[in-house]
Amino acid sequence: MRYGLISDIHGNLEALTVVIKELEKRNVDEVLCLGDIIGYGPDPEECVDLVKRYANVILAGNHDYAAMGILDISYFNPHARRAIEWTAGQISDETRKFLKERPLMMVYDDFTIVHATPAEPEKWNYILSLEDAADNFAHFHNQVCFIGHSHVPVIIAKDKRGKISVRKGQEIQLQDSEKYIINIGSVGQPRDLDPRAAFAIFDTETKHYELLRAAYDIQTTQQKILKKGLPYFLAERLAKGQ
Ligand code: ZN
Repeated sequence: MRYGLISDIHGNLEALTVVIKELEKRNVDEVLCLGDIIGYGPDPEECVDLVKRYANVILAGNHDYAAMGILDISYFNPHARRAIEWTAGQISDETRKFLKERPLMMVYDDFTIVHATPAEPEKWNYILSLEDAADNFAHFHNQVCFIGHSHVPVIIAKDKRGKISVRKGQEIQLQDSEKYIINIGSVGQPRDLDPRAAFAIFDTETKHYELLRAAYDIQTTQQKILKKGLPYFLAERLAKGQ
């Protein structure tokens, strides 16, 4: 099976539309979404509709939960908080109910998917260091766990001696003797200094993983952000990819 993996769309319809076209072109069998469809961006409802149409599985992220009012947002930065409050007022009751029912983590086929961390998905911690990764390898029982949340793509491997390291590059051929935590990056708000939308393809037969990028019309998204009264900072960061 060839899986298209997407995460952290954050209401960015232009980025999502381009990514879905790319996945269709590349003949993936199924699309899996790792959460945060909404929050930050100007088209939350439209993005949920589109993801529902294309994705076979949809997990919840912290921004989805926040917009439902089931997560304390006092620790969010002011821009994120403002965007969450705005988003909460935009989504329909149907969407609210749908997002509320999404799982946080799942074993799918022969791999694990989760928005934040396999150790404590409901705490929304980040895996930002090898120490963070080390704590998490014991908490999933497949060869690979795909995550989102930080908006920074990374491949972290644990070899048979237990040594954990970051693997450079955008793709990897999984080795039977290793385990992996792979962050698939963000469709709608990349933060690795590459403003193009990030998405990934994982083939369970060949055990090949690849991160891909797609350019989209950032200006249109930025104009919508400003027109809808969302913070200027949220428009600015899209062009910088940070
Ligand atoms: Zn996110």
